[in-house]
Amino acid sequence: MTTGGKLLTSILDAPHPPEGRRLFGLSNQQLAEALREFSLPSYRIRQLQTALYRQRVASLDAVFTWPRNLRDRVAAAGFLVGLPSILETFRSVDGTERHLIAGNDGQTVETVWMPEGDGGDDDDPSEPDPSNPSPSGDPAPRGWSRATVCVSSQIGCAVNCQFCLTARLGIIRNLTAGEIAGQVAAVLNRQQAEPGRDRINLVFMGMGEPFLNFDAFMGAVRLLVGEMGIPESRMTVSTSGVVPGILRFAEEPVRPRLAISLNASNDAVRETVMPITRKWNIDDVIDAVRKVPLRARERVTFEYVLLGGVNDRTEHADEVVKLLRRAKFPAKVNLIAWNPGPDVPFTTPGEADVARFQQRLRDQGIPAFIRRPRGRDIYAACGQLKKTGNSDPRAVTGEPQ
Ligand code: SAH
Ligand code: SF4
Repeated sequence: MTTGGKLLTSILDAPHPPEGRRLFGLSNQQLAEALREFSLPSYRIRQLQTALYRQRVASLDAVFTWPRNLRDRVAAAGFLVGLPSILETFRSVDGTERHLIAGNDGQTVETVWMPEGDGGDDDDPSEPDPSNPSPSGDPAPRGWSRATVCVSSQIGCAVNCQFCLTARLGIIRNLTAGEIAGQVAAVLNRQQAEPGRDRINLVFMGMGEPFLNFDAFMGAVRLLVGEMGIPESRMTVSTSGVVPGILRFAEEPVRPRLAISLNASNDAVRETVMPITRKWNIDDVIDAVRKVPLRARERVTFEYVLLGGVNDRTEHADEVVKLLRRAKFPAKVNLIAWNPGPDVPFTTPGEADVARFQQRLRDQGIPAFIRRPRGRDIYAACGQLKKTGNSDPRAVTGEPQ
């Protein structure tokens, strides 16, 4: 198990790869700086931003608002767009697609596309409601009218939650802001989705702990909101309870909604499944969350992975109720029956047990929703993200359906 000290060392050790002359991922100011040698007027930088983030072009050659001669000179100096590319796709029977996307150094990250949603809480971007019409009211020509993209923030993870497959990788490295936002760009391109027209929700719930890669994560959020046009109200970030990260998050003027991976009703149980509890216990986390200024009608989500026989009994539900009443801020609970992974020693509770747990919370006034797993057959569900080999028979390379 990871101790607090070891955890901090791995955070400091997690390296960023060199950015090289990659343009995707840079802010207006960073682009101006990177291209200083060309003495470009500011409108040329704005044209480039539009091409990179609104049109999501694959190469400098496609920046048609620039004269050819400028495109050629910038490319000749070694600059490139550097949009991450999808190396491999696994498609589930439920329409979910899991992508392996190349990072800047050729390592792969995982990104999941979930069309439609699963009929959860319609107030929550991580739970799109299929009964809602799309904003334009148009029929969905591609078989979906809204979708959620599950985005990774690190390759691997240092937090070592005992029930999570990503934990098995350890922390390999942090992703850059461009690699985080680039996952969304690559998936939108594949699906021919447009944030202004289609209802796209983002959940930062893929591989890694976003609050242990805070600057790159927030840099990506700023690109996604400011440049790519996805409202922050349609984004949710999930943390295992990294208190300094939550405190920094509380100060951010533009920020996604917040989800906390609670996963146990008291510190003793939580320590056994989430060793990070020894560094920051449940009360520490709740005190930090209290500092986050919530918007009108905003609730903090508490995710609760139900582990058979470990945290799924009635008394655990009652403890969760007490805990959330004590918290005194608007909260809701998303229940997730544990998704199995090879050699992970837990069991999935039965549907009736999950329903009973939910009812126990609801009877005591706590909003509780059951998140049905998406793409379980392709290891795309929560906590199942871990790079798999190329030999998987469900790998597809064709166009999305
Ligand atoms: N690292 C962040 C975000 C990614 S994990 C975090 O832990 O919050 C996203 C969610 O998946 C978390 O709530 C986590 O508790 C849950 N999860 C992890 N492994 C799971 C599994 N095997 N089955 C179901 N949910 C799991
Ligand atoms: Fe990391 Fe989240 Fe998995 Fe825990 S549940 S190991 S924090 S990815």
